[in-house]
Amino acid sequence: MAATHRLGVMGGTFDPIHHGHLVTAEEAFWQFGLDEVVFVPTGQPWMKGDRPVTPAEDRYLMTVIATASNPHFSVSRIEVERPGPTYTVDTLEALRAQAGPGADLFFITGADAMLEIFQWKDPDDVLSRAHFIAATRPGYDLARFETRAPTSHPNVSVMQVPALAISSTDIRRRVAAGEPIRYLVPEGVQTYVEKMHLYRSPA
Ligand code: NAP
Repeated sequence: MAATHRLGVMGGTFDPIHHGHLVTAEEAFWQFGLDEVVFVPTGQPWMKGDRPVTPAEDRYLMTVIATASNPHFSVSRIEVERPGPTYTVDTLEALRAQAGPGADLFFITGADAMLEIFQWKDPDDVLSRAHFIAATRPGYDLARFETRAPTSHPNVSVMQVPALAISSTDIRRRVAAGEPIRYLVPEGVQTYVEKMHLYRSPA
């Protein structure tokens, strides 16, 4: 019988993608014995909180640039091309249809983002569609997570990633303030940000 394909699904806005995201995906690849990790940049929310989000095509291209050198990483346009709000449940359903019943899905994202999912409708349905890997930085207060997405649930794991001290919010702030982002993001992403004049004005 063929071995099960273990498919990592790395969900995020990636505005911009940074080394913390790449380390997270690589760590999940290794810790969970994945066969590949597909990065899925979110579609286009008009506003996120009180700030506009960079166009999906720019975020998609930066994700392609950042992951290009890793043979087991790829990038999906599934959410970029799907109209309307981005729901993880739809993405997992579509990826399951593509991958077939023989695949095991592992959804990887930030722990705070995952908390939102569990505030949403029907968390049991979402939980049944994949194994969830919640990435945290050291010192993250797990009690916040525990009440809504118990780590004792068989489909939830928490993974600590020291490199997640890097954050997209801080990178955007640094660009607006004229501070360097070299070594926080891959060189190609830094070049893209400069070339396209992204993040120049404060959020
Ligand atoms: P977010 O709220 O912008 O991010 C929350 C925290 O998680 C931030 O610290 C963020 O750091 C971090 N984070 C985000 N993605 C990460 C990743 N892949 N790896 C490591 N850390 C990550 O979250 P978001 O980007 O909007 O959403 C993340 C994922 O959850 C997306 O796939 C989104 O579609 C999904 N989501 C789904 C629903 C739903 O279906 N209802 C609701 C919320 C989120 P950075 O800012 O540095 O990335």
